[in-house]
Amino acid sequence: MTDAPLIRQASCRCGQLTVTCQGEPVRVSVCHCFACQKRSGSAFAVQARWPDEQVQIEGRSSIWVRTADSGHKATYQFCPDCGSTMAYVIEGWPGVTAIPVGAFADLDFPAPKHSVYENRKHVWVDILGEDVQHVTSTSAERRPGLNLLGKNENPD
Ligand SMILES: [Zn+2]
Ligand SMILES: [Zn+2]
Repeated sequence: MTDAPLIRQASCRCGQLTVTCQGEPVRVSVCHCFACQKRSGSAFAVQARWPDEQVQIEGRSSIWVRTADSGHKATYQFCPDCGSTMAYVIEGWPGVTAIPVGAFADLDFPAPKHSVYENRKHVWVDILGEDVQHVTSTSAERRPGLNLLGKNENPD
């Protein structure tokens, strides 16, 4: 018996840039770092990651590259019309693409299992769930060659 592959679609606010993801994400995380706060415009950001080959991006996009404190480059793809960031990749973590969870507008989306950069967490924010890994980390503690499911490595 073969189940149809699970497909989720994210879109920017104006709708011209879409991301189609196949299968369950390999990681869903919350990041409280200031860069993610500025990216999302919110007090924290939530993102899900899939292997690159399970992510299909369609539509026009612009690129912005940021160099993190760790020295790693992060490359963001955003809609040139409405400005929504729809995908990003981190140099130190090759092979996976991060998609902002809000872009799916899906209340059934899997809950985050990782909450990182809690040293930047607003005091009124709590990420709930018994199996959530809470990490206070800074970019200086990051290293290249991150293990995808590693317990001690926490890319945003
Ligand atoms: Zn747009
Ligand atoms: Zn972050």
